[in-house]
Amino acid sequence: MGKIVQLDEHLSNKIAAGEVVERPASVVKELVENSIDANATRIEIEVEEGGLSLIRVLDNGDGIEPEDCVLAFNRHATSKIKSEQDLIQIRTMGFRGEALPSISSVSQVELKSSTGVGPGAYLFIENGKIKDQQQTNSRKGTDLIVRNLFYNTPARLKHVKTIQTELGTITDLVNRLALANPNISFRLKHNGKELLHTSGNGNLIQIIASVYGIQTAKNMIPVSFSSLDYEVSGYIAKPEMNRASRQYMSLFMNGRYIKNYAISKAIQNAYHTFLPIGRFPISILSVKMDPTIIDVNVHPSKHEARLSKEAELVQLVENELRKVIRNQRLIPDVQYKKKEQKQTDRDEQPSFSFDYQTKKKQLDIKPIDDIMPARELNTTFINHPNQETAHVKESADDLNEFGKTSVITNEPDSNKVQNLSKSEQVQEKIPVMYPIGQMHGTYILAQNENGLYLIDQHAAQERIKYEYFKKKVGQVDREVQLLTVPYTFEFSASEAAYLENHIQLLSEVGLFLESFGQNTFIVREHPQWFPKSYEKEIMMDIMQQVLDHRKIDIEKLREEAAIMMSCKGSIKANHHLRNDEIFALLESLRASEDPYTCPHGRPITIHLSTYELEKMFKRVM
Ligand code: ADP
Ligand code: MG
Repeated sequence: MGKIVQLDEHLSNKIAAGEVVERPASVVKELVENSIDANATRIEIEVEEGGLSLIRVLDNGDGIEPEDCVLAFNRHATSKIKSEQDLIQIRTMGFRGEALPSISSVSQVELKSSTGVGPGAYLFIENGKIKDQQQTNSRKGTDLIVRNLFYNTPARLKHVKTIQTELGTITDLVNRLALANPNISFRLKHNGKELLHTSGNGNLIQIIASVYGIQTAKNMIPVSFSSLDYEVSGYIAKPEMNRASRQYMSLFMNGRYIKNYAISKAIQNAYHTFLPIGRFPISILSVKMDPTIIDVNVHPSKHEARLSKEAELVQLVENELRKVIRNQRLIPDVQYKKKEQKQTDRDEQPSFSFDYQTKKKQLDIKPIDDIMPARELNTTFINHPNQETAHVKESADDLNEFGKTSVITNEPDSNKVQNLSKSEQVQEKIPVMYPIGQMHGTYILAQNENGLYLIDQHAAQERIKYEYFKKKVGQVDREVQLLTVPYTFEFSASEAAYLENHIQLLSEVGLFLESFGQNTFIVREHPQWFPKSYEKEIMMDIMQQVLDHRKIDIEKLREEAAIMMSCKGSIKANHHLRNDEIFALLESLRASEDPYTCPHGRPITIHLSTYELEKMFKRVM
């Protein structure tokens, strides 16, 4: 006697439900996606007890023909694809025909639906069986209620987390659906309380404000770019607006929320050196492409997708976002906030908070002749917003050498100034500012007509040095310093063997290793620009990077080497700077490519505007 039997439909549906209906949020996802596929412009979601006692999704979409209503609950019954050809160019959220039969096999379902023409249909299904079927009114759209989810699958019920956790997952999901579909109005209610309501007017930034708050929305930068195969649009947060988890990065591909490691890495790379370690950006990116490029039939819940041209998209996203981030003026503003009315009089101290909002207008560089004459600002120097000042003297010895610039004069060089076109000046990343002094041997205070600036001298110098070394390790010349006594480095046999294979790679960042037998290497010379008195330490650090990373490429190694070098010997806090040193530092900072954050992502400059000061002193109301 054979032992194999064909499972009945109800049992196969329950098995499929194990994949499709993992938790209450999966039901919400499937039902809302059905509403989206039905061209709904309004979707209302009601849940009770984290979705376990009730999930209701009501839409104003196309509705289901009465004669299709029963069929919709059959396995692999769908109106969305018909042939194999359709499967390679999917334009809808659903296509597997699995959701309704799966959901109805593990809950009690009520469906009311109408196309708006003639009477609609009502169905009640329990345990996968139709228990009631009637005619209803013809309100166009679909109303689906799922009660007592997992009531007949105790094993699954045990895995469901607390109501709070399940509700969190549902909220997160609906937030993302709303972000992905700005033209649809979403309303989410839990136990009668409204948690989200979007207008459906197509304005994405309003949805970002509803989901993440107004402060976040104010700090988002719109992006839009494309390549041959991809069109990307959305918003990314200014680097200061970062988060401790990747949760706040949303990627939509053809309207579908997708988790994609490579793209999420590309977004993080674009923020590299602008974000502190362990912090992540907030981003909402929507990618449109021809459906033949993307295969979503990878996972039953369609969280993942295979892209046939993934590398192209990775490159595009990383390059374009990096440009956007660099082009921002990223000096955080200090803002004065009045204390709440109800506080006692003794609490009348003003409080401060950072508002990282970039006020473009306020920071725009004025033509040089509009700026207050140097003398009025108590200084005899004037700095030119002139690209020539980008010249940095090629010795990494001390701050002075670093900061030396070609133009520091007593008199404004009017010829040069006049030659500057206005657009050149506006392109400056940070404005000209005039030093006032130094505070606690740590912060430089500077001013211009826009107010007061505080500059972290250590962070500033790290940024300047980082850019300097990044160039140096980018093209190592053989202008070397011979060592009177060569350095020797000893390793374990496996480490030595590994380094031996990377001698060429190491030489490309200026580390000239020679094998010396017995797991030992010697170094006889190094480039002139290696940080003085830290040479051996730097070499060891670089080799350690290679050993730690195993598969490190030259670009990454250059980056790491430049960061390590920039940390070594940068002026520390509690270090007094002479006036000329301060000037030189500010000038070099203005000339740097990314003058906003140190290579570890900490801010360099904080701005307190004249207006804010006047508000604090109540000179203006
Ligand atoms: P799929 O979405 O993969 O086609 P489902 O089981 O989710 O499979 O739904 C089966 C069918 O029921 C859909 O193809 C669609 O025709 C119909 N349907 C489900 N929900 C709705 C809805 N809200 N509005 C209109 N039609 C719907
Ligand atoms: Mg579906």
